[in-house]
Amino acid sequence: MNDHAPNSWEARAEAHSLYGFTDLPSVRERGTVVITHGEGPYIVDTNGKRYLDANSGLWNMVAGFDHKGLAEAAKAQYDRFPGYHAFFGRMSDQTVALSEKLIEVSPYPRGKVFYTNSGSEANDTMVKMLWFMNRAEDRPQATKILTRWNGYHGVTAISASMTGKPYNSVFGLPLPGFLHLTCPHYWRFGHEGETEAQFTARLAAELEEVIAREGADTIAGFFAEPVMGAGGVIPPSAGYFQAIQPILRKHNIPLIADEVICGFGRTGNVWGSQTYDFVPDAIISSKALTAGYFPMGAVILGPEMTDRLQAAIDPIEEFPHGFTASGHPVGCAVALKAIDVVLNEGLLDMVRAGAPRMETGLREIAKHPNIGELRGIGYMWALEAVQDRATKTPFAGNLSVSERIANTCTDHGLICRPLGQGIVLCPAFTLTDAQMDEMFAKLDAALKQVF
Ligand code: PLP
Repeated sequence: MNDHAPNSWEARAEAHSLYGFTDLPSVRERGTVVITHGEGPYIVDTNGKRYLDANSGLWNMVAGFDHKGLAEAAKAQYDRFPGYHAFFGRMSDQTVALSEKLIEVSPYPRGKVFYTNSGSEANDTMVKMLWFMNRAEDRPQATKILTRWNGYHGVTAISASMTGKPYNSVFGLPLPGFLHLTCPHYWRFGHEGETEAQFTARLAAELEEVIAREGADTIAGFFAEPVMGAGGVIPPSAGYFQAIQPILRKHNIPLIADEVICGFGRTGNVWGSQTYDFVPDAIISSKALTAGYFPMGAVILGPEMTDRLQAAIDPIEEFPHGFTASGHPVGCAVALKAIDVVLNEGLLDMVRAGAPRMETGLREIAKHPNIGELRGIGYMWALEAVQDRATKTPFAGNLSVSERIANTCTDHGLICRPLGQGIVLCPAFTLTDAQMDEMFAKLDAALKQVF
């Protein structure tokens, strides 16, 4: 058991603060780590111990923890105008500028942006927009939302209902009308003897069946992460989006890309949908949007969604939705700077240049007999632990093995994330070659220690 000194930061943390999404037996056993500051991609705890954070916070701190330009952009805007919502016919100049920038970097020739404080709220907002449009179009029955098992879309009642994780049953979720289709993970869910192309075709056929069963006129939209993140870094099977998008189009079902993780560089392009060669009807963005320096999300509507929303607004002359801090000027100023940093300070190029090196290093580590699969793209990767490589038999228990690997990594001064039986690596884009080598060495040492 942990033995924090009474009144230490760690004991005080455990006395009064709650964790979300945390394996509490591990915390009880190992104690809390209280962080005081960051240096590049490292975080430093109250004892001065440094950890290389291969999680980049929660996929969001893509420029590291001490980017001067981002902090200065926030400070300058706090000094100039510290806070104001986009409501009642008023919005800050920073909000205006960010919306222009987001449409400029989006795949859309024209569009509109709505701001939230988080990715969950952005997904929630998009669902409400779809419901709002459908009611205005005299299709109140078109409420159902299609997503996939293992997809992660957030924690509000709507976005948790979209999330395809069994743990949501503890809340009595999903709400009715949220339907989950097969996860496009060929290695895990492909049938014996089925090729990847056949697997993709099976998932497309499943989509057709679900639409036929439910009725196309009852479905409001299909939400998908280009690469599933919190489901364990699952790139789609080959041709997946090319197979499903025509089916959705045929039935007039909008395809919404949840780019909360993939957006702004993670897959080596601005958008994950770009990497997988499809143009969604709308984009959900957060995380790297502000490089993690301000909590913010955005719904970016393409032309058709923009027109449908406007037509729904016209009769009542209002979209009755919004958050106190929607379009916060500091968030917008930080996002403008973050986009500049990703696009013009070379962060996107760093991911493009570093991705092959990352893959090569991880392939070496994945030769370990208890690693069944290495999967990923750009700067998002996962190693899947298995008891038996040939049969892909998982270890017993859900988190135990990956939790042990992650804990051992932490002992070595490397933060990585256990997800199911996978170990996820999604570092800052600014990682140097030496830091990447440090990540490989620590992960390798931890794996050898655990198995
Ligand atoms: N969508 C995706 C793909 C995510 O990965 C996340 C969070 O990890 C969310 C939505 C929810 O974002 P937030 O945690 O900011 O509410």
